[in-house]
Amino acid sequence: MLLTITTTHQPATDLGYLLAKHPDRCQTFAINYGEAHVFYPEATAERCTAALVLDIDPIGLVRGRQQFGRARGTLAQYVNDRPYVASSFLSVAIAQVLGSALRGACKDRPALASTPIPLIANLSVVPCRGGEAFLRRLFEPLGYEVTARRVPLDEAFPEWGDSPYHRVTLAKTTTVSDLLTHLYVLLPVLDNHKHYWVGRDELDKLLERGQGWLAEHPEREEIVSRYLKHQRSLTREAIERLLADDDIDPDAADEHNERAEQALERKLTLNDQRLGTIIAVLKQLGARRVIDLGCGEGKLLGHMLRDKDFAKIAGVDVSPRALEIAAARLKLERMPTRQRERIELFQGSLTYGDSRFSGYDAVCAIEVIEHIDPSRLQAFERVVFELARPGAVVITTPNVEYNVRFESLPEGKLRHRDHRFEWTRTQFEGWARRVANEHGYSVRFVPIGPMDDAVGAPTQMGVFAR
Ligand code: SAH
Repeated sequence: MLLTITTTHQPATDLGYLLAKHPDRCQTFAINYGEAHVFYPEATAERCTAALVLDIDPIGLVRGRQQFGRARGTLAQYVNDRPYVASSFLSVAIAQVLGSALRGACKDRPALASTPIPLIANLSVVPCRGGEAFLRRLFEPLGYEVTARRVPLDEAFPEWGDSPYHRVTLAKTTTVSDLLTHLYVLLPVLDNHKHYWVGRDELDKLLERGQGWLAEHPEREEIVSRYLKHQRSLTREAIERLLADDDIDPDAADEHNERAEQALERKLTLNDQRLGTIIAVLKQLGARRVIDLGCGEGKLLGHMLRDKDFAKIAGVDVSPRALEIAAARLKLERMPTRQRERIELFQGSLTYGDSRFSGYDAVCAIEVIEHIDPSRLQAFERVVFELARPGAVVITTPNVEYNVRFESLPEGKLRHRDHRFEWTRTQFEGWARRVANEHGYSVRFVPIGPMDDAVGAPTQMGVFAR
């Protein structure tokens, strides 16, 4: 079994620090069922690839391991695919051989360990129970670009057809820790077979490794069930615990990160200051019909509902889970009819033109643009300023300069793991002025939170008006 991880982040050989394995050496480690080798087929400043090869001893596998293959007869104990495929053995090897990288620890390059860099993982033989479609359903919601090719049974005999295995490439700009974590959890899920007994320890491990992504994953039930070997009571407990942790934060990607961001900003009650300022600005603009794009759990919607000046309120989010939580928080079901008529929630994306965004006095996008890939920002501009074209637009985003004032935030790290970027004041103002100019709006800027002479305020707001 071969797993390679490639980066083009420069200097690419920093991958050696991230994995805590020197690019010039070939190292061998004893693992439970054989050996694991780590070496670098290429290691230049431009491109670096680390390879993890598992050399599993098929005889060692069955010795003293009654459960393995017992039911399948003796031959199956010795002749099986386990040594060659990406399965729970690879997960164990990742934890044993690349443990610090999996945890995100890196003593030589701590900031780099938490910085998303371009990564490509190649897996030579992946058993996909559920086929390529399931493989995609597992990795694409996490933002991976997935390439999969069926491996022929025997290249010399194409007429024999394909084997049940795939050669898989996963590409994403992410941290090494996230990539390894996703592989660690999802490879055994794809294989749908675990080589060791599954008990409560495994459940705890799954919840720990799944922090920040599993609760929101559209396939979470199937992932949990397969991971826990379809043991119903463990599966039920896992789902309950996942969702119990989850009812605070709607952010599609990342409830854990959201909480970290909230904790970071808590001292300032920055969120309250932000909401207060937005309401004040909207009232000053005379906006009575307001749509909140990327409304999340609906905090701003709640504030507007309490104020009779807002006659029509809409909340839009790409995450159905966020909308469910917003509806529950706002108690939509139990709302008196007159009140209920003032508010509407619907799923939508602020990077796709949507006629439902039209007809409002103001559009808000609060702490949302930094979640959009920079390549999609132009689409957002078009959707809001050209197509919806409200009288006013209110946009807030973090001021990255302020991050040095958050003591618990490591240098160079963004406030939230799903942030695609965080801008300085010059960057945000430059962007906002250009957009305003191009679409016939004026724009003014309002700092939110405590003002620091050197780095400004933690949140920056642009108020656009026609
Ligand atoms: N405005 C809220 C939530 C901010 S978190 C607040 O201030 O509390 C960012 C939100 O944007 C998340 O709920 C996320 O699901 C949503 N989001 C991210 N990309 C989006 C897109 N393309 N279209 C709509 N919503 C999006």
